[in-house]
Amino acid sequence: MRFFNTMTRRLEEFREIEKGKIGLYTCGPTVYDFPHIGNYRSYVFEDLVKRFFTFSGYRVRHVMNITDIDDKTIRKANELGLPLAEVTQKFIDAFHSDLGILNILPADVYPRATAHIPEMLDLVSVLLEKGFAYEKDGSVYFSIERFGDYGRLANIDRDKLQLGAAIDSDEYEKESIQDFVLWKGKKPGEPSWPAPFGAGRPGWHIECSAMSMKYLGAHFDIHMGGVDNIFPHHENEIAQSECANGQTFVNYWLHCQHLVVDNKKMSKSLGNFYTLADLRQRGVDPMALRYLLISTHYRKLLNFTFANLEMAGQALNRIKNFVFSLKNVENAGEAAPEIAVLIASNRNDFTENMADDFNISGALGILFDFIHEINQKMSELSKKDAAAVLTYLEGLDTVLGVLRDNDSGPLAAAVEEKIAQREKARKNKDFARADAIRSELMDLGIMLLDTPTGVKWKKE
Ligand code: AMP
Ligand code: ZN
Repeated sequence: MRFFNTMTRRLEEFREIEKGKIGLYTCGPTVYDFPHIGNYRSYVFEDLVKRFFTFSGYRVRHVMNITDIDDKTIRKANELGLPLAEVTQKFIDAFHSDLGILNILPADVYPRATAHIPEMLDLVSVLLEKGFAYEKDGSVYFSIERFGDYGRLANIDRDKLQLGAAIDSDEYEKESIQDFVLWKGKKPGEPSWPAPFGAGRPGWHIECSAMSMKYLGAHFDIHMGGVDNIFPHHENEIAQSECANGQTFVNYWLHCQHLVVDNKKMSKSLGNFYTLADLRQRGVDPMALRYLLISTHYRKLLNFTFANLEMAGQALNRIKNFVFSLKNVENAGEAAPEIAVLIASNRNDFTENMADDFNISGALGILFDFIHEINQKMSELSKKDAAAVLTYLEGLDTVLGVLRDNDSGPLAAAVEEKIAQREKARKNKDFARADAIRSELMDLGIMLLDTPTGVKWKKE
């Protein structure tokens, strides 16, 4: 298994710290608004990576923080005139609901920043004691001059550092690299906690250092996020954690490139800013969106367009139609050894592609070759062969996570209801009514198939 480590800027063979186990930290949402589909590109990619490690036999412990206090959340609460916790809770709930809709597996822990202030205070105290931080006007800053490795992750020229200057905001550009804030002195209109160095609240970066240390230890395997997290956020996490603990923080840094819409950065003013709810209102199938989000290699920009989304939906339908055909194979007979061989070699090729820097296009190509080959043999396939192929696909889908049955959605309930009405009409020999229901469903893209074991349906 190898992938691109942002720290070393090359492909590296993965070696875990403790055999068979992986500690994974992913930067979670800043809950001041609904996440947009760009955020979900990062979260879905992180999910794909975690699922593939699990598929490969690792036990992954996944921690994803919730940033429920920072400059942005405070600004939003003040704009709305509501308590911070009320505002953040609304977006935390929306986030968890979106994760379910996108079939993103839950993390083991979702630590919230506001629930970890004592851990942050401890960390800031250690940095002060060790001389890596200093107090100024009621705030505490990290002295980048004191950390010789500062800038390694983001590949920054040390000559660019503005030594001695301090910055209060959580986010800033590479052009203004200065001592960053660990603890912000109390300001009117901001929540604050008592601290040995004066009441105040944490800076954004200290949150992730403190919470990753608590749940994964001072040194763990993989840290992920979107590319915008590299600087300053992850650079600052490294500085804080390594200076406090005197050891390497993380072995592998894995960053996902951005999503753009119509080749432009997403922004509310351009009208190209989409949340998951926006897309669902337009009738977008969340599994088609998930397919689109995973199907571009994580180190390439992903251009979101409705045409691309449509194509993703079609690719997904090819897989679903294949599953549908397999489920309807009725031939008795023994399992053909040839099918078992095909499955084994396909699994091998799929895994090899994924293990090579998560080469998803290669892996999906392998899957579609397989579908093509089996489709050609479909009429000769025995029920046993079909079952073996289905089991194989279920295994692959523990990685891809796109084949979730639509059996439980609101659409499924409506379709089942219509099918029941049609059955009733047929029983009453009201065939005109039965046919009318069938064509009504066809207008919605729902195909019915009458099989010996009952009526089955699929969405085109
Ligand atoms: P935030 O809530 O802004 O802290 O971002 C949450 C996650 O989404 C981080 O890992 C970001 O790097 C990532 N992210 C933000 N914008 C995009 C985008 N346009 N494409 C992909 N990932 C993004
Ligand atoms: Zn973080």
